[in-house]
Amino acid sequence: MIRPDSPLKSIPKITPKYQKVLEKMGLLTVRDLLFYFPFRYDDFSKTVELSQDHLGESVTVEGEITKTKLNRIFKRRMTVVEITLQDKNGTPLKAVWFNQPFILESLKERAIVRLSGKLEIRGKYFSMNSPAWEKASRDATNTGRLVPIYSETSGISSKWIRWQIKPLLISAREIPDVLPVEIRKKFNLYDIHTALSQIHFPDSKEKLIRAQKRFAFQEMFLVQLKALEIKNQWDKNNSIRISFEEELIKNFVSRLPFKLTDAQRKASFEILKDLEKSKPMNRLLEGDVGSGKTIVAAISSLQAISSGFQVAIMAPTEVLARQHFESFCKLFENYDFNIALLTNSYKLINCHPRPDRGSSLDSRFHKNDKKRSGLLQKISTGQTNLVIGTHALIQKDVKFKNLALVIIDEQHRFGVAQRAMLQGETMHISDGKNNTIPHLLTMTATPIPRTLAIAFFGSLDLSILDEMPRNRKPIVTKIVTPAGRKEIYNFIRHEIASGRQIFVIFPLVEESKVLSEVKAATEEYKKLSEIFSEFKIGLMHGRLKAKEKEKIMKEFKNKKTQILVSTSVVEVGIDIPNATVMIIENAERFGLSQLHQFRGRVGRGEHQSYCFLFTENSSTKSVSRLKAMEKTNDGFEISKIDLELRGPGQFFGTLQSGLPDITMENLTNIRLVKCAREEAQSIMHLDPRLKKHPLLADELERFSKHIHLE
Ligand code: ADP
Ligand code: MG
Repeated sequence: MIRPDSPLKSIPKITPKYQKVLEKMGLLTVRDLLFYFPFRYDDFSKTVELSQDHLGESVTVEGEITKTKLNRIFKRRMTVVEITLQDKNGTPLKAVWFNQPFILESLKERAIVRLSGKLEIRGKYFSMNSPAWEKASRDATNTGRLVPIYSETSGISSKWIRWQIKPLLISAREIPDVLPVEIRKKFNLYDIHTALSQIHFPDSKEKLIRAQKRFAFQEMFLVQLKALEIKNQWDKNNSIRISFEEELIKNFVSRLPFKLTDAQRKASFEILKDLEKSKPMNRLLEGDVGSGKTIVAAISSLQAISSGFQVAIMAPTEVLARQHFESFCKLFENYDFNIALLTNSYKLINCHPRPDRGSSLDSRFHKNDKKRSGLLQKISTGQTNLVIGTHALIQKDVKFKNLALVIIDEQHRFGVAQRAMLQGETMHISDGKNNTIPHLLTMTATPIPRTLAIAFFGSLDLSILDEMPRNRKPIVTKIVTPAGRKEIYNFIRHEIASGRQIFVIFPLVEESKVLSEVKAATEEYKKLSEIFSEFKIGLMHGRLKAKEKEKIMKEFKNKKTQILVSTSVVEVGIDIPNATVMIIENAERFGLSQLHQFRGRVGRGEHQSYCFLFTENSSTKSVSRLKAMEKTNDGFEISKIDLELRGPGQFFGTLQSGLPDITMENLTNIRLVKCAREEAQSIMHLDPRLKKHPLLADELERFSKHIHLE
């Protein structure tokens, strides 16, 4: 007997060839296949009589085959099957299929069949091109209904999947329902069996929607349960309490060359309040590019260090880590702090406390490749107060003495494993008596709308910098078609002549295309070197060694080069206030939020800045999307538009989070999120370990294996 956990291998109809493909798709058991959902449906539910009224529509026609014909076109090595069918009124229809001669084994004269497809007219006859077909004596599976379409990227046809799933649905009756019956009743949700059969073979649109609603709820419910579980787990930890010293902070803030925005003030206060608690902070600081997150991080660090504890700041790239290191050395110039930079290629650089005034920053760097162990010792003895670095920070040999605060910048750019590790063992401080874990502040420049952030990061507290420093001049953004390129090049000459600098970004579409992107950027670099032979141009891409990247960045920063051509993989989180022009090639290949990130690289200084979106694709759709960039400089506004256009997956990276697409889509459904969250809360409140809900506990464990919400 076939059961939900039977391996697909045990099903005779699935030949080894198919088994292999299914295995590659991660489908091993009957259950897996049953939970492999269609991604869309063709609506062939309308069975019609042949008539002009239905021309151009997707319909199903039933009738008798009156003639069959097989044509071979030798020149093109092609076969064409043509059948003629008469509906019950005797109206004929001709259907053709290319290169499927085997169809004739099933479709014989006098057979009664259903054909589903788009109804057209060819010559004197109604016609259909490669319609789906099925004998009329069969249950409607492929025709005459809403027909499920599965992803066919792996080389398995939807038709094949449909034939496999149909009989397996019987064993679906054995799948226990993880949603408690009270919840199902409350929200009028299908039970699991009905939902499974309706999602694969919907009897009507209404029933399909109800089935989808059930799975959406289930997924969102699990997401929320998981978030609460993480939060409960996190809240069980102890942390070091750091008292908020108002004088200290006021003093620091009053010496800044600018006034904090209200949003910065509020976020800093929220963090300082969290640090006072004996349970660790787990807060996300979200703010548009340039909203001033660094200062908020500095204020938090200042309090922790002044109270006698260590702080670690982690950035996703070496260039960014180095930049933070320089900023923090400067910000804390009047404090007696020992600051270190730790990355894989620098090993360790120390910024000595109380540098002589007037000495250049670089002379204060103490490069110490060989004495890595000696300097690691400084961290372990607590002599170093602040360590800034890349993921080199979470290597096993880095031990802290009394680490109280960890700050992760641009957290979305770290891998999940790295983030988990940061929160995990290596950062625990064991002083022998009480185990504590550091307070955690993560920062991201992806302006995710608040409701969405709460839905997704349910386990985190949230501070949002929704206000830009006042001195910012809006960046002028323009879409440029090939005809306008020359004019922009002239403009660039003019800007460079006035002393400014230029970024040119080349798109990376997929990670695997890294090489071809490098090639494209290198070619562009050569081309621009000819066009702008009077200027010096730098080239950055992912294949360069850290040292080379560093050198190229430095040359740009020191104005040795005027134009920096870069691929999109490379660290662009850098601060070059003198750069005023951002050119993005093939801009239509990027999402709006990503374009906005690039644009944020300019407009950091006192000069008017510009962003030019080059596109060769003049399709109205892609241009109208880019127009949003011309209209607004507000990252939250842009992410809202992007959310509508491309769904929420892009913000988190579906692959990275492991959430299925439907859940991603549903994250924007505020009502759904709210209901799922409330139900999750009430269950977790009464039964935090889900002891009374063993099915749910099992499902949550299965679910946890492939999603990451931290
Ligand atoms: P991001 O949020 O992108 O990390 P940064 O912290 O790098 O932004 O800040 C961008 C720039 O804005 C820095 O040069 C910083 O000194 C400056 N800045 C930060 N806060 C303010 C403010 N309140 N007023 C004016 N400038 C500010
Ligand atoms: Mg930043």
